[in-house]
Order: sequence, then C-alpha cells, then structure tokens
Amino acid sequence: MYDVAIIGTGPAGLSAALNLKLHNKSILWLGSPALSRKVGLSEAIANYPGMETLSGADLNARFTAQIAAAGLEITDRLVTNILPDDSGFSLLGGNDFYQAKTVLLAIGSAGPKALEGEEALLGRGVSYCATCDGFLYKGKTIAILCTDPQYHHEVEYLAQLAGKAYLYTPYKEEVPEGAGLERLPFPIRAIRGEGRVESVLLGDGSDRAVDGVFLLRNSVAPATLLPGLELEGPHIRTARNLSTNIPGCFAAGDCTGRPYQVAKAVGEGNIAAHSILEYLGK
Ligand SMILES: Cc1cc2nc3c(=O)[nH]c(=O)nc-3n(C[C@H](O)[C@H](O)[C@H](O)COP(=O)(O)OP(=O)(O)OC[C@H]3O[C@@H](n4cnc5c(N)ncnc54)[C@H](O)[C@@H]3O)c2cc1C
Repeated sequence: MYDVAIIGTGPAGLSAALNLKLHNKSILWLGSPALSRKVGLSEAIANYPGMETLSGADLNARFTAQIAAAGLEITDRLVTNILPDDSGFSLLGGNDFYQAKTVLLAIGSAGPKALEGEEALLGRGVSYCATCDGFLYKGKTIAILCTDPQYHHEVEYLAQLAGKAYLYTPYKEEVPEGAGLERLPFPIRAIRGEGRVESVLLGDGSDRAVDGVFLLRNSVAPATLLPGLELEGPHIRTARNLSTNIPGCFAAGDCTGRPYQVAKAVGEGNIAAHSILEYLGK
C-alpha cells in the first residue's frame, strides 16, 4: 500500500512527486517515462520564472535529469480505472492492480470524451491494452485509434497479430506500415454492436466490420477513470487545497482548469502535495 499514487508525468505530477519524495512518502508514479507530450510540443516556453526561454523538449530533458537525481521512479502504465475502497484506492494500470492511501490526478487537460459505444462494449471487444488483449484477435479484423506516436510499437504488435487492422491517428507523424494495416482517412465516431463489437462508424458515415477495437490513448476521460468524480465542464472540480469531492483524491494542473500553463501546473502540484501530506497526517 503506497502513501500516494500520482497519475500523470507532466509538470504537475513531477512537482508533486518531488515534494512528496522530500517528505519521505512512498510514491507510486504512473504514466509515461517519455513525460508530457504537450510540454514536448511547445516550441518555446518564455514565461517560467528563473529560466531563460527554452523549448519544451529541453524542459522535458531537464525534468528527466531531475527525476533521476531525485531517485524518483515512473511506472509505465496508463491507469484505466480507480476505485475508492476502505483503505484508500485500488488502481488498474494495464493488467496490474495497485493500492494507495491517496491519489493525485495530474492527468492534463480534459481527457478524451468516450466514443459512443465505448463504455457499453468495454471488455466486449473494446480494449485499452494491446499487450493484455492483442492475442485474442489473432487473424481477426480490428480497428485501432492511436492518439500518441509513443504507442506505435503497440500498433505494430497488433498489426502483426490481426488479419486486418484499420488505423486512425489524429496527428500527421508517420505511422507504421505493414501488410494488413490500413490507415483510415476519417476518425472513428462510434463503436457498434449488440453485446459485442461488430463495427466502427467513421466520420464520413461509412462503417467497417471489425471484431475488436483498440483505443491507444495517452489519457482516459476523468469520469471514466474515477466514477463519481465531480466535474465542472470538462475540468475536475477542486477546492482551494485541490481536494476533489472524493476524500483522499486530489487533482492538479491542466485537469483542474485554465490557464493551461506549466507554471500553474507546477504550482498546483506543490499545493496538492502539501494537502496530501496534511490528509495523510490526520
Ligand atoms: C503546443 C503547446 C505549447 C505550449 N506552450 C506553453 C508555453 O509556452 N508556456 C506554458 O507555460 N505552457 C505551455 N503549454 C501548456 C503546457 O504544456 C501545459 O499547461 C502543461 O503541460 C500542463 O501540465 P500537466 O502536468 O497539468 O499536464 P500534462 O503536461 O498534459 O501531463 C499530463 C500527463 O498525464 C498523462 N496521463 C493522462 N491520463 C493518464 C492516465 N489515465 N494514466 C497515466 N497517465 C495519464 C498524459 O499522458 C500526460 O503525459 C503549451 C502546450 C502546448 C500543447
């Protein structure tokens, strides 16, 4: 049982992790070791006190060095479900369960809205994890939505297994190529099926018959992640100390609202860490 599970490896998660580490708390830090794609995309960050203008890629490189120097470890998992229980929280990341007394959601701005049919068909042909469920689709037809190039190795893995794989990516970077892999020209709008996935509906109104759908995203909608979490529009509702409506669950950074800025994310990560210390001390 960890003192705290931090979800998200952007500036908010890092700021909280550094502070909680200084207070000797046991930390489970879940997210991508590649850190925030959003930070990495920023051409120039010119408004962070104490630092000359630098690119987001350079800032991420500094974060990586700081993480190593602080002895912090990142567990490379996308968290798909959090359940409050008597002793704190159970978290599902990939195929693994974790337990923590408190949770910090540092998951970035407004996670994706679930696709129509996604929640109803989850586990019935809809999967978030290629490694966990890919083998079920050997020789079959699947659709893949991939929202981050960091998952291209999973796309390749799925394409090798499946007989046919339709791929949609919302970005322009090159995607893996291979026999049986077809890039879709229109986004996936809905997942359809009676009790099991049967097809995906595309943005042009056409559909493709599929046996399964893999959603390889770098985030999960907050309401799907932690059912019962109060939202304010697309953001997580928090008090001034960054507690949410669920006792022991805190939120920081872009996920709590605008402005979407590194300085605000870092500041909130710091506040949330101190609120978590206070909560654990009670
Ligand atoms: C192009 C661009 C330019 C920008 N320029 C600037 C600028 O000049 N100055 C400035 O201050 N800000 C800038 N920003 C904004 C800045 O990048 C964000 O405000 C900042 O990254 C927010 O930090 P965060 O930690 O809240 O969220 P993020 O940086 O978004 O990090 C959240 C992390 O959590 C991960 N995550 C989400 N859900 C899960 C889950 N379920 N399980 C595991 N991990 C999960 C995400 O993959 C992500 O890595 C820019 C943003 C963009 C896109």
